[in-house]
Amino acid sequence: MSKRDYYEVLGVSKDVDGPTLKKAYRKLAMKYHPDRNPDDKDADAKFKEATEAYEVLGDEQKRRAYDQYGHAGVDGQAGGGFGGGGANFSDIFGDVFGDIFGGGGRGPRGGPQRGSDLRYTMELTLEEAVRGVEKKIRIPTLTACTTCDGSGAKPGTKPKTCNTCHGAGQVRMQQGFFSVQQTCPSCRGQGTQIDDPCTSCHGRGVKEETKTLSVKIPAGVDTGDRIRLSGEGEAGAMGGPAGDLYVQVSVLEHKLFHRDGRNLYCEVPISIVDAALGAELEVPTLDGRVKLKIPAETQSGKQFRLRGKGVLPVRGGPAGDLLCRVQVETPVSLNAEQKDLLMKFQASLTGEKHSPQKKSWFEGVKKFFEEI
Ligand SMILES: [Zn+2]
Ligand SMILES: [Zn+2]
Repeated sequence: MSKRDYYEVLGVSKDVDGPTLKKAYRKLAMKYHPDRNPDDKDADAKFKEATEAYEVLGDEQKRRAYDQYGHAGVDGQAGGGFGGGGANFSDIFGDVFGDIFGGGGRGPRGGPQRGSDLRYTMELTLEEAVRGVEKKIRIPTLTACTTCDGSGAKPGTKPKTCNTCHGAGQVRMQQGFFSVQQTCPSCRGQGTQIDDPCTSCHGRGVKEETKTLSVKIPAGVDTGDRIRLSGEGEAGAMGGPAGDLYVQVSVLEHKLFHRDGRNLYCEVPISIVDAALGAELEVPTLDGRVKLKIPAETQSGKQFRLRGKGVLPVRGGPAGDLLCRVQVETPVSLNAEQKDLLMKFQASLTGEKHSPQKKSWFEGVKKFFEEI
């Protein structure tokens, strides 16, 4: 098939300047663009022809070759494809043009749309988080209207194609030379209109409801863990699938235990006598009391590890430990006799051997002042 002259295709003279050439191509491209002429083979061919012509004439080097040798000079260079080549397509297909041809990445509207995901923050006690729990939650959600099956039209009627946009969901508005695509104001982009709206949902197809769900929390979860309940989010529009519900776990502070990952920590107050002589104490764990042996001469702040008495992690692995830190308590509310006994006790202490840290501490202080 012999090709038409490129200047003829674009309807311009041989000495056309850049801006005029561009304007001529833009006019043809808008007229014959496939988006505006669906299933029109003639328009498609004209669009390709104009694009090919512009690819050559819009490029200085190719235009020179074409002027000199005709089609033979540029054949195989102009692909006729859309958006390729060396011509200045980018300045033509700028913001406005890109928007008209859907360059903004907007998908077709009016089709089924997936419902939104919902997030629910669930507060758990430490015991619940460690052992797992099943909880009922109430969440506000949009569900498909049962009266109209989500269509929004009164039972027995159907939504019909929007008269304004003929179902496209978008309309073209003339703005000077350009026409700009906008969301259809009549149907708000849905592409359909409802003459007889469903009375239960007022044509929205969805209803706000509070639903009660039973959520199984696995043992070992911690703050920040998320449980996904597939399909329990908001209902989709126009028959689209529902979104998901994410239950976000937040574990409350415990009176006795502090949790860090799989380990638990607790503070255990002990008397000076128990600390000095050693004792067997009862300490709490999440599974009840256990015995903890404190050796004689235990200092305040010493930490004891109870293996396996921590948390069994939700993602598997061995249970953590319980770390008990002893705090030696100073006795208070002493009566005269007790005070007397302490005085006698104090008097019985000789030398530095009874205070293991005192000696080195005083030495440290002495050295500190000597060095000043
Ligand atoms: Zn309804
Ligand atoms: Zn419309």
